[in-house]
Amino acid sequence: MKTLAILGGGAAGLAAAVSALRASERRVRVVIAERLPRVGKKLLSTGNGRCNFTNTDISAGHYHGDTRFAERVISRFGTEEAVRFFRSVGVPEYIEDGRVYPMSESAAGLLDALRAAASGAETATDFRAAALLPPKTPGGAWRILSENGAELMADAVIVATGGRAAPSLGGSDGSGIELLRALGYEVTRLLPALVQLKVERPSVAALKGVRVRAEASAFSKGQLVHSERGEVLFTEYGLSGIPIFQITAHEECDTVTLDLCPNICKGKLLDELENRKAILFTHTAEDFFAGMLQKRLGNLVLRAAGVEKLSRPVSSFDGGTLERIASALKRLEFRVSGRMGWESAQVTAGGVRAAQFDPETMESRLHPRLYAAGELLDVHGDCGGYNLHWAWATGITAGRAAARALEASEK
Ligand SMILES: Cc1cc2nc3c(=O)[nH]c(=O)nc-3n(C[C@H](O)[C@H](O)[C@H](O)COP(=O)(O)OP(=O)(O)OC[C@H]3O[C@@H](n4cnc5c(N)ncnc54)[C@H](O)[C@@H]3O)c2cc1C
Repeated sequence: MKTLAILGGGAAGLAAAVSALRASERRVRVVIAERLPRVGKKLLSTGNGRCNFTNTDISAGHYHGDTRFAERVISRFGTEEAVRFFRSVGVPEYIEDGRVYPMSESAAGLLDALRAAASGAETATDFRAAALLPPKTPGGAWRILSENGAELMADAVIVATGGRAAPSLGGSDGSGIELLRALGYEVTRLLPALVQLKVERPSVAALKGVRVRAEASAFSKGQLVHSERGEVLFTEYGLSGIPIFQITAHEECDTVTLDLCPNICKGKLLDELENRKAILFTHTAEDFFAGMLQKRLGNLVLRAAGVEKLSRPVSSFDGGTLERIASALKRLEFRVSGRMGWESAQVTAGGVRAAQFDPETMESRLHPRLYAAGELLDVHGDCGGYNLHWAWATGITAGRAAARALEASEK
């Protein structure tokens, strides 16, 4: 019986195991080599424990990096295929604003179902692949050596070891990317993505914990990179929340602006501020946003508009001051100093160049019987189920193709 080794028992690796077992009707021996004591650990943290496993709008526009490659994979494996796969392992879906979750809203339940479906595979846990040695002769076996001296021989290998994001949540430390680099594969620049932004000025430390609905826009050297509406969260170091995560799925930026009143144009906002002035005439500046904005955020807006003395009476706001306040509300500017690190990131931007693999099979163009799947490739998606979808799509494609190739070679 031929052996298929799957390095990494995360989302992509487990999906690859299920599809290989099914495609070969268990006539191929499938071995999952997983670094941690258990498979699928990161899945438990996904979607805040609910696992947003795909989206009703799977399209190339939601992917970054090698989007042409992504398009070729997802054109064959879209939402319908993902939903069908999960129903086939006993996980019906539930949809909320296009985001698809298991009906149980339980990531642990989805993992249990995947593990059950992959139970025909052998699992070697605490096996951190440290060397991947190609066959010495055509059709010979691959050798995989673990960090602590264990050895695995296989007729085909799927590398599904993930990227570098959230290593302590899921064991993905980028070691699989290094295994492929050592075999001569090109790797693009790796960057934490779907992560908080660090802000240099103004300091936001005093706003820690404040949440606001806003339109966040990111700029690089004055050029708009991306805009997104949603809830922005202030942290000790900077900005978080889904709009900020989405920004970090794109290129790097040096400035982020928040439109704190995205549903109203500046002219109408100015009328509104004049009304407020009349209502709050006898109050001090620090009460100016009562009922409109969280006080600490209101104070930041006032300072950005040049109102330094918060004990100043609202009656002293002239037309110029109101105009500056309206501008600050529509465009509160933050100088970005970087991104938070790998530990805080949900995914990896960049990775092993996907173009070195065949999108129809995920087989390497450089080494026959070597496949890659998941986040270790230079494709990543937006928030909203796109990254897990990528893991399923590439894992299932690779598992099926590898099992069929091994079966065919036995005939
Ligand atoms: C907090 C959090 C929430 C998220 N929520 C969502 C969500 O709701 N929806 C969504 O689409 N995406 C989400 N993501 C992203 C998504 O989880 C990942 O993109 C996805 O898990 C990648 O799958 P993968 O199989 O490629 O890698 P991983 O899931 O990271 O799995 C890789 C596996 O390989 C193992 N491994 C690593 N190196 C080796 C080695 N050398 N030898 C053997 N094994 C090794 C690891 O231990 C791990 O088990 C979230 C990520 C985080 C961190």
